[in-house]
Amino acid sequence: MLSDKHSFASKAAKVEAQGITPPGYVPPQDEKPITIGGTDWWHILGLEPYGCPLRLWFEKRGVEPDVPQEVTKPMQRGLWLEDVAAKYFSKVTRIKVRRRKVKRRKGMPEWLGGHIDRHIVATESTDGPGILEIKTMGEWAYRRFQREGMTLGYVAQLQHYMLLTGWRWGMLAILEPSRWELYVGYAKADPELQKQMLSQAEMFVEQVEKGLRPTRVTNNPDHSACKACPYRRRCWGELLDAERSENGMEAEEDNSPQLVKAIEEYIAARDAKQEADALLEEAKRNLQELLGKREVVKTPVGIVEWRWSAPPKRFDVKAFKADHPELFEKYVREFEESRSRRLKVIL
Ligand code: SF4
Repeated sequence: MLSDKHSFASKAAKVEAQGITPPGYVPPQDEKPITIGGTDWWHILGLEPYGCPLRLWFEKRGVEPDVPQEVTKPMQRGLWLEDVAAKYFSKVTRIKVRRRKVKRRKGMPEWLGGHIDRHIVATESTDGPGILEIKTMGEWAYRRFQREGMTLGYVAQLQHYMLLTGWRWGMLAILEPSRWELYVGYAKADPELQKQMLSQAEMFVEQVEKGLRPTRVTNNPDHSACKACPYRRRCWGELLDAERSENGMEAEEDNSPQLVKAIEEYIAARDAKQEADALLEEAKRNLQELLGKREVVKTPVGIVEWRWSAPPKRFDVKAFKADHPELFEKYVREFEESRSRRLKVIL
């Protein structure tokens, strides 16, 4: 039974009142010493699709983003569902976990920080205590994760907490709530990787402290990292304005939060559609591969058809124009006004 302190309702009230501050999300005050948390590795290592050292540098230097950053619904979902995911993890793995605050072990640099999601309780059959990192993902992100697996960003995050605590292993639990699926991954401490991470982070911390700007992760402002970056305007400046309107139309300035939100929602929906289209294509290819040369197949869940279609018939405009130039001119029309409006967001 959850105590009231950890209940969803009390968490929800806290989130509404104070907002969520995941590591690296809120720029630290200038006087605060820099801290590198587990999620910062995506940026320090410049990992696809959104990692960029310069973006993190802006954050750690306390630079104002282009537009105020809101606590997103996926962030709230992640916080509220953390307990659920931890319980689910324990149920399927029979591994006992606890909440626990950990201290940075001796000998680690002062900038190494962060909080573990759960402490995996040591048993006789484990190599001491372990880290449990918990994530919640929407359906599309989860499917992408299933395709890509435990990429370096997740591995680096677990290695970070192992460095912090000195523990020798960790697990990743990812909950996809709508299909009620749970991914569980495992990683062992990798001293060589940890050494490389520390030296990379040392360089980055020095850049932040001395104000030395790291290079951009890309030379293309349309890179996926830049499109999702809250410092895009600051980073690319007038170059964006020059490319903003491809037909040279004068852009009317409108900084209303509603319009910004509507644009963000449009982009999120467009990205979700692109992901869904890619998944559909993949599922289709898989199905076609299984069908091979067969045109109609009956299965317990239904009939699947993949028939050859008749060759398409098309009106040959070029040939018609060549054979009947007068008729063509008589019936061809040019409209004075454009009949449709094309919606395009140029970021
Ligand atoms: S706009 Fe792109 S290159 Fe610039 S900080 Fe953001 S992610 Fe990095």
